[in-house]
Amino acid sequence: MLGAKMGIDLTVPEWLQSKVGQWKDALHMAEWEVAIGLALTPNGNADCLALADQFPDLNFGRIVFRADIENNRFGEETIVHELLHIKHSRIDHFIEGVMIPNIDDGSLICSMTYRQLIEPYINSMAKALVDMKVKNAQ
Ligand SMILES: [Zn+2]
Repeated sequence: MLGAKMGIDLTVPEWLQSKVGQWKDALHMAEWEVAIGLALTPNGNADCLALADQFPDLNFGRIVFRADIENNRFGEETIVHELLHIKHSRIDHFIEGVMIPNIDDGSLICSMTYRQLIEPYINSMAKALVDMKVKNAQ
């Protein structure tokens, strides 16, 4: 594996496993199984912080975090962001897999527009939830 050759440990750290579990509970995702892993470049993209594969029919998600994720507020926002993608995936899969393919004209535009709308929404919700947690801890 590339990470091993470069001397980078791709073992999921204890804090990350624990934080994902805490947020999975906080987000009421008990029915979901969420597997996590690390990669040097999730999605083959060095700018990508994490990637969530979603299998809503199986109640399963898999998050691959970039290996340099840190145990800080930004890392926590990344965790919440990816969990929210998994939680939202039933709606996403319905819209993208059922509704949009049945639009006669402009389904590509609809799909791109939906993705452009959902990403900032997930981002904003993740930041808001981490903000709330930080404020509640004070
Ligand atoms: Zn996202």
